[in-house]
Amino acid sequence: MISAVLPTYNRAPLAFVKGEGSWLTAEDGNRYLDLGAGIAVNALGHAHPDLVKTLTEQAQKLWHVSNVYKIPEQETLAQMLTDRTFADTVFFTNSGTEAAELAIKMARKYWYEKGQPERTEIIAFEGAFHGRSTGAIAAAGSEKMVKGFGPLMPGFTHLKWGDHDALRAAITEKTAAVIIEPIQGEGGIRIVPDQCLKGLRDLCDSTGTLLILDEVQCGMGRTGRLFAHEWAGITPDIMMVAKGIGGGFPLGAVLATESAASGMIAGTHGSTYGGNPLACAVGATVLSIVSEPAFLDQVSRTASALRQGLEGLVASHPTVFEAVRGLGLMLGLKCKLPNTDVVKAGYDEKVLTVAAADNVLRLLPALNLTETDVAEALRRLDAAATALEQA
Ligand SMILES: *Cc1c(COP(=O)(O)O)cnc(C)c1O
Repeated sequence: MISAVLPTYNRAPLAFVKGEGSWLTAEDGNRYLDLGAGIAVNALGHAHPDLVKTLTEQAQKLWHVSNVYKIPEQETLAQMLTDRTFADTVFFTNSGTEAAELAIKMARKYWYEKGQPERTEIIAFEGAFHGRSTGAIAAAGSEKMVKGFGPLMPGFTHLKWGDHDALRAAITEKTAAVIIEPIQGEGGIRIVPDQCLKGLRDLCDSTGTLLILDEVQCGMGRTGRLFAHEWAGITPDIMMVAKGIGGGFPLGAVLATESAASGMIAGTHGSTYGGNPLACAVGATVLSIVSEPAFLDQVSRTASALRQGLEGLVASHPTVFEAVRGLGLMLGLKCKLPNTDVVKAGYDEKVLTVAAADNVLRLLPALNLTETDVAEALRRLDAAATALEQA
């Protein structure tokens, strides 16, 4: 018999009742060190006092009003985002997938309004993940996500990872945009080198193609900069954000330049829930914390301590791990054993990690992970690896 919850997840037999910082308490009272943070969502850990305060204060005042009215909390957060980024304008969604939908629509509308309606094609990359709507799965194009869900939205081309010549050849007079994650998350923590992002920006500039960056997973301070593309010294035309932006409250956003957004006039797009007062109040508190230079420096310091420890872990468990990859607190351990076995061994040691493609174990901890948490993470991962070696 089918479960009451649609069984689209292979769930671990764990349920949590309480969280505090990087720690989760399970139903049986056991405490787990959370290095997954709800897949990079709980950017400030669980039950951060400032977020709890903002959420409860706003909850007493106003949760939801329609976007047919002005929403001051939304205007505040949009202003904060445009002040801190390349963007001139922001649309709020409830998820990364919805951000992908708008990014695709915005790019196509841009060319339509420019009098080049034939420029509809979007170039994406193998191993990408942009969400689960029909548009977002067409963009990612991986067999696992699209099989059985056809016919897919047309107009997407998928290129091999790192094939610069193929990219140059693929951009034609029909190309509207290129969509790429600066660091692939689900794809296995694969970094697009700064040089390649620069080259891609140049290529887009010389052909007029819009550059859409998907920073749903790698953005919001995770790499030690507010957004990952800042390391390469480039800016996109359109950017998708979600996951960490609400610190655990559902929130997403599309950020864009005035030019890229120029086709999106009144009536062309909307959302019932997107940008509601509750989500935006929480988002503003998250952003005010994670965009502080001192906070971002601390992310980098914590990240180097964790990374150094992980390098040691790889060296001392060569039959379990192969290498460390990633940037900041978006880290991956390429595994020799099946990554799902390592995740399970972690459960036994009460440490939570997340599997990704390419046999990678992902570590996406809260950005305010403490020094003690880092030491404890390394100790527990070491114990998990030792248990696997002895099995
Ligand atoms: C998670 C993710 C999405 C989809 O976000 P949802 O909130 O799950 O819809 C899109 N792109 C990237 C890079 C992601 O990691």
